[in-house]
Parts: sequence; structure tokens; C-alpha cells
Amino acid sequence: MHRVLLALLLLSYSQPTGILAAEKPNFVVIFCDDLGYGDLSTFGHPTIRTPHLDRLAAEGQKWTSFYAADNVCTPSRAGLLTGRLPIRSGMASNERRVLFPDSAGGLPASEITIAEALDEIGYQTACIGKWHLGHLPEHLPTRHGFDSYFGIPYSNDMNRIDRATSQIALAEQEKFQAYDVPLMRGEEEIERPADQRTITRRYTEEAVKRIREMKDAPFFLYLAHSLPHIPLFRAPEFKDRSPAGIYGDVVEEIDWSIGQITASLRDNGIAGRTLVVFTSDNGPWLTFGTHGGTAGLLRDGKGSTWEGGQRVPTVMSWPGKLAPGIVHEMGGTLDLLPTFLSLAGGQLPQGRVFDGYDLSPVLLGTGPSPRQEMFFYQGAQLYAVRKGPFKIHFTTYTSYVGQKPVPQDPPLLYQIENDPSERFDIAAQHPEVLSDLRNLADRHRQSVEPVEDQLIKVIRKE
Ligand code: MG
Repeated sequence: MHRVLLALLLLSYSQPTGILAAEKPNFVVIFCDDLGYGDLSTFGHPTIRTPHLDRLAAEGQKWTSFYAADNVCTPSRAGLLTGRLPIRSGMASNERRVLFPDSAGGLPASEITIAEALDEIGYQTACIGKWHLGHLPEHLPTRHGFDSYFGIPYSNDMNRIDRATSQIALAEQEKFQAYDVPLMRGEEEIERPADQRTITRRYTEEAVKRIREMKDAPFFLYLAHSLPHIPLFRAPEFKDRSPAGIYGDVVEEIDWSIGQITASLRDNGIAGRTLVVFTSDNGPWLTFGTHGGTAGLLRDGKGSTWEGGQRVPTVMSWPGKLAPGIVHEMGGTLDLLPTFLSLAGGQLPQGRVFDGYDLSPVLLGTGPSPRQEMFFYQGAQLYAVRKGPFKIHFTTYTSYVGQKPVPQDPPLLYQIENDPSERFDIAAQHPEVLSDLRNLADRHRQSVEPVEDQLIKVIRKE
């Protein structure tokens, strides 16, 4: 025992900067694309095997009521990186739900990302994977606080060459050439079309390399997998391996990736000072049959403000620091920026509205979650609000089946702790809850300042 203490003391004397660095934790965010609430074995999937995530969940925290900032890619990512609802940055729109290869807009330079906020207090930063916050040079990760970038600038199904392919979901690994998606390093295109069959493996290798390079001082690594968004691709060694079919293969390769990253944190001796957050950008893309995931018992999926669109499977790990267990309290990707800044000893930037909360009391087991409400947007419109166990729907929309949004007057009300599938409308029995949630929605709407819509801007053709 004394010998260990002495060794630690000697280590401390020999590495004075190392001690200071050790006070600030590293942050690794692993963000999947369109992974549903029911797609991990630790969240109840009967056949997809995710042993690495299961172990992280068992040793760390599994969050069962954790929300993405939006129900589609671009606004969800804007929310995660800024701690602000995408409506506040112009990254949510009624005209176009996400950015496309002809988009001229992107995350405004005036926004402060997690990378920029942490860079201010001495962090190294790396972005790997799908960006989808603007592909023109001025919008790239390297202009938003990241020291390095390796990945694809928008979704893996964009710039489809073969328009005759009606079944996008069936264009799997043999047909990566059908999607003219660039792979970038820094601000340069290095491969086009990106060979998506090896993309999860290459993101992982890059992550392991960057962890090794950054290990001696605090860092933030944002790894945004471009899968399991369709079209699905996986490396040959994962082909036809999962009993859950190609979708299972893809998720199992991502789980392999988690294993590589956690092993690298251990091998570099920094697991004990690294918070890993694994989550998803929105719910499963249900219209693609067995090529899409599942929201489990939650209603609907990607593109909808029902729970299945935004409640996402979330696992956090920080060996020796996290209070282990299953967290039923609310949290969300909007909370990562305030939480990281709090854990790193930084301050929230002044002069702007944040929608995120500092979740560190829940992480460290010292207090309850400060998040008591969640606002659900469809484009630029507020469709639903959750407060505590209750969720009110002012408008509902069933995703991707051609149905128009349905105004609900009076609104629908669900008690989603005893009715997580949102099946039993209890509005008539709880007029006081309805009125409370209406007031909350009104106050929230008044807090939103109009800003320029970034998603309707299109590159002008000559
Ligand atoms: Mg997505």
C-alpha cells in the first residue's frame, strides 16, 4: 500500500503538468446515426449482440430517458454540439429538414461548439465521422473548433448516382459507388466515392490513433458514425455474422469499434480519466424494413416527435468515477456541453440561451437530474413538450408514410412513465397538467428569437 503511494508521489513529482492535466477529464462522444432505442442487447434487442456496450452499461450508466435534440440528423447534431435547441441557431427549418449536397448553409460561425468551448480551456479536439452541419469550407469541423477532421460531410445516402435504384436500402456493400459521397481529411477530399464498406473500421483506426496522439493532455473526441443510417455497409469479417441480418451486422461492427476504443483508453492508461458517452442522433428509420432499426416499445421513429423519434439508447462510462446503475431520470444530448464544461472546470459562455443542463450530479451520484422538461420540434415548430412524467402533443406526425401533420386540439396527454408507448390519452382527466404544459410551451416559444434559416440556403448554379 505504502509502496503504491510512494510510487504515485514520485510519479507526481516527475510529471507536474501531468497532475494538472489529470484534473480535467477527457471526453469521448460516440454518436450513432439512426440507431433505435431497441437496437442494443442491453436495451432489450433479442438477437443483436453488443457485448462491449453491454459491459459499459453494466459497469457504468445506462440512461433510459435520454433524448436527442431533434428527430433528424442535421438539427440533432447542431443541438448536441452547441447545447442549444437547433431552432436558436437556424439549424431547424420547415422547408428542408436537413442539409443536402446543394446546401449553402451550415452551423453559423457565431455558435460556440463543445470543441470551441473546451479549446478555450486547453483541450485538444478531434472530429471523426459524419458531420452534416455544412460541407462548404466555412462550415467544416476545422472551422468550428476541431483540430482535426476525418469523415464524410453529409449523409451516406446522398449524391446518389443511380436514380433508378428504387430500393435504397438494398444498395449495400457491393454498391458503395452508387453514392458519390466524399471522404475528407481536414478540409481536403481524399476519396470519392468513399468506400463505405470499410468506413466503420477506418473511423475506429483514426479514433485509436488520435487517442494515442492526444493522451498526454485533456482531449475531446467526437466520433459520429455514419451508420447504421441506410444504405448499410459492413466490413467482410462482419458480413452475415449477426442473427439479426445485415442491420445486426452493422450494429455489431459498431460494438466492435466500441471495444477497440475502450481498449485503447485502457492501454494508454487514461480510462480512469475519460468519460465516454455513447448515444444516437435520432430514432430508427422505420420505413426501410429489416434494413432499419427498432425503437423497441417506443412509438414511431426517426422523423417523428413521438418518443421513438428522439429517445435514444445511451450508455456512459468513466471507470471509478460514475455512480454505476440504470438512470431513469431525464437527460439529453443538449446537456453534454454544460456537463463537460462543468466537469472540466469551465464556464458556460455568456450572452446566449442554453437549453442544456449540467448532468454531472447524476454522473457522480451527488444529486438528481436538473433536466425536468424536453421540447420536441418538427422543423421550426414545437409539436410536443415533456415535463416530468407527462408529455403533451400539440401536433402529431407519423414519420415517412406520407401522412400530413395532425393538429391536436385539445392536445393529447400521456403519462410516459407508466405508458412509454404513448397509447393512452389522459388529457380529459388532467386539465391542470394540460394547462401547466401549455403555459410552459408558451414561455418557451417566447424565449426563441427569430434567426436566419440555414437549411433553405442553396448553392446557386452558374
Ligand atoms: Mg440520423
